[in-house]
Amino acid sequence: MGGFGCPRSWRRPFTFDANCPAGYLARMSASNGEPPSLPAIEVRGLRKSYGAVEAVRGIDLSVSRGEVFALLGPNGAGKTTTVEILEGHRDRTGGDVSVLGHDPGLNDRAFKQRIGIVLQSTGVEPYLNVEETIDLFRGYYPHPLPLGEILDVIGLREQRCTRVRRLSGGQQRRLDVAIGLAGHPELLFLDEPTTGLDPAARRGAWDMVNSLRSLGKTVVLTTHYMDEAERLADRVAIIVEGEIVAEGTPGELVRREGSTIIRFKARPGADSPPEGLGAEPAGEVGRYTITTGTPTHSLLQLTGWAVERGVELEELSVSTSTLEDVFIELVGATERDGMEE
Ligand code: ATP
Repeated sequence: MGGFGCPRSWRRPFTFDANCPAGYLARMSASNGEPPSLPAIEVRGLRKSYGAVEAVRGIDLSVSRGEVFALLGPNGAGKTTTVEILEGHRDRTGGDVSVLGHDPGLNDRAFKQRIGIVLQSTGVEPYLNVEETIDLFRGYYPHPLPLGEILDVIGLREQRCTRVRRLSGGQQRRLDVAIGLAGHPELLFLDEPTTGLDPAARRGAWDMVNSLRSLGKTVVLTTHYMDEAERLADRVAIIVEGEIVAEGTPGELVRREGSTIIRFKARPGADSPPEGLGAEPAGEVGRYTITTGTPTHSLLQLTGWAVERGVELEELSVSTSTLEDVFIELVGATERDGMEE
């Protein structure tokens, strides 16, 4: 099984067995015969209701092959429901879904063989070492990804002989990804890959996702961290209350939905900025922010007013919104609209 010479633990890894349950059986063919130019995922009008709760309300999505795609949204937005439908783990109420050319609702074995799923935690045997654990899962497939390649992608080559119970949280998370990769999937679903990790471990996980991209894998990830989505994702979709409210590259979303934020402090006792400037008090007395789509004009107005009144604008700064600003604005706007209905 291609080991690197670790002393074996008490239990030998399995080898491929043609009688394994269908979910563990390997992918028998590299493709389903569909043209490689087809998107990895194509969703039209996806709906899912749990009784009276409409969790997903008519979603359209397209994910290209080799793309890292992030699904973002607040708690309860419908991300997990959507991803579980794409994985074939949940029935849909309506709409058309194609994943690698398969309808995941049909639950066919060929489809399961072509995807990898990394849940928030995978139950693995704590007394096996890293290499044995990966080999155990590789043994379920006739064409697994080579062990060395997996160790390189997840960055655990040095820990290959370490028992699972001795791994840090971040290392265990990487091992979860190794398990998802074992069968050499074309498409990997990553559920919140860095939740609970410290900043250094998060960066390690980001490197790992970038390695997956280099391997040409299509990756669908869910995350609550906007900086993570901004760093990793080629494209993101923001889902709120079961609908997609924005979609595009992180850069496009910031340019399309974002704005410029001007911050400054006027000395106590100075006149307040005139209403037309749109300056909002920001915490400490005398501190303001202006959120604007026309920064040149707003700056001219602000500095013109300040020069005229002899007001020094201390700590003047101009910055563009981040994906997090855009996310908070879009989620807030949808919730406000919902309350007005
Ligand atoms: P989180 O970020 O908290 O994981 P999410 O975006 O993944 O949230 P979902 O878990 O898909 O959201 O839930 C969407 C909606 O569907 C929520 O209102 C949730 O309460 C509801 N829901 C999810 N699963 C079920 C279920 N099995 N039965 C009934 N309602 C459910």
